[in-house]
Amino acid sequence: MNLVLVGAQWGDEGKGKIIDILSAKVDYIVRYQGGNNAGHTVVVGDKEYIFHLMPSGILHKAKVCVIGNGVVVDPFVLLQEIKEIKKAGIDIGGRLKISALAHVILPYHKILDQLRETKRKNKIGTTGRGIGPCYADKIIRCGIRMVDLLNPKILSAKLKDNLKEKNEVFKKVYQHKGFDFNSIYKEYLNYGKLFAPYISNTALLLNKAIDANKDILFEGAQGTFLDIDFGTYPFVTSSSATSGGACVGSGVSPAKINKVIGVAKAYTTRVGEGPFPTEFNPSFGKFMRERGREFGATTGRPRRCGWFDSIMVKEAVMLNGISELAIMKMDILDGLKEVKICVAYKYKGKLLREFPHDFEVLSNLKPVYKTLAGWPKVFTKPRNFRELQPNAKAYLARLGDMLNTKISMISVGSAREDTIFLD
Ligand code: GDP
Repeated sequence: MNLVLVGAQWGDEGKGKIIDILSAKVDYIVRYQGGNNAGHTVVVGDKEYIFHLMPSGILHKAKVCVIGNGVVVDPFVLLQEIKEIKKAGIDIGGRLKISALAHVILPYHKILDQLRETKRKNKIGTTGRGIGPCYADKIIRCGIRMVDLLNPKILSAKLKDNLKEKNEVFKKVYQHKGFDFNSIYKEYLNYGKLFAPYISNTALLLNKAIDANKDILFEGAQGTFLDIDFGTYPFVTSSSATSGGACVGSGVSPAKINKVIGVAKAYTTRVGEGPFPTEFNPSFGKFMRERGREFGATTGRPRRCGWFDSIMVKEAVMLNGISELAIMKMDILDGLKEVKICVAYKYKGKLLREFPHDFEVLSNLKPVYKTLAGWPKVFTKPRNFRELQPNAKAYLARLGDMLNTKISMISVGSAREDTIFLD
């Protein structure tokens, strides 16, 4: 069975936890897009692991973890992550595979990312890690790939060519002194040596695995509404965070994907700028942010919080082909007097039941809510559906109806055990 797991909101849905649970049941775990702007948190016992580039499946012994061609790799960050994982006593052995075709983040990408953001009147909220400029170079065909780090002649030629143009831009547009060829060349050639054992043809590896009836989990980073095409552009990430990205980002055909599972929080959060129809008022937002520990795993940035938006998640179900949903952080809603679900939007007196693309509409519409009674705070975590509070069950039933999608997992805490499976 080949599964794709995607975020159905603006990322940070708690995918890390579900990926970790599902990883136990598959043979291969694949990252297919994004870079170290993502951050998955996995809690095992009293230990918390935060992964930025490494597929979270690395915590499971004997699973092969793949960084696919659709990912952009900052070699320095990946090296740090490998070191930390080894320090934690986890054996990576031959389990990590990096696509030869994955693009590499260079120092000029990071600086450009930050300089561009400071120049922008309307900030897009980039993490400033060079992800966007690296993807831009990929598309304009001057990117440097993992395979190039293994070939001194090609690396030298590409880097020289790039620096010739980029240094001009840095000096003239950004009043930045530019970059020295020798130091970057030496540093990246060394990365080539260090990563050589991991770099391979991962599309071939995965397709052979499928032929041998192995199971693969494709782990999406970010979320549907951060997707470069379908997200709330331009406040999005630079890659395809929707399920289709799993195919182009790994070299596995859509015909080989069996199921797409969506992950959504029982409420909504978003980091950075951009429209957010169901956002709480500032004081309730602060209360919920603290209660839900809603601070970015990668950047520590406070997340904006709001009610569950069923119009958004319905759109995500459609775009990704989601047939099952995991609803996360139900426990964070415990003890509220009432809970709300956005069931439509209102704009200039008109009722909208689809997610609008016009930025003006999206920024000014008003959510229409269905209000339900809340449920008391519980002191022992429910271990099965029966043990959930009746009003929590009613809330979930309403979500399932609104989305016309099966809810197959309910998460009531960060630990692996705090998960209710409905199948
Ligand atoms: P991801 O990028 O989608 O994996 O999301 P994050 O890494 O930001 O994960 C969200 C955070 O919520 C992590 O700290 C998880 O341990 C935690 N978490 C996941 N599920 C639950 C849950 O059901 N309840 C609570 N309280 N925390 C959860």
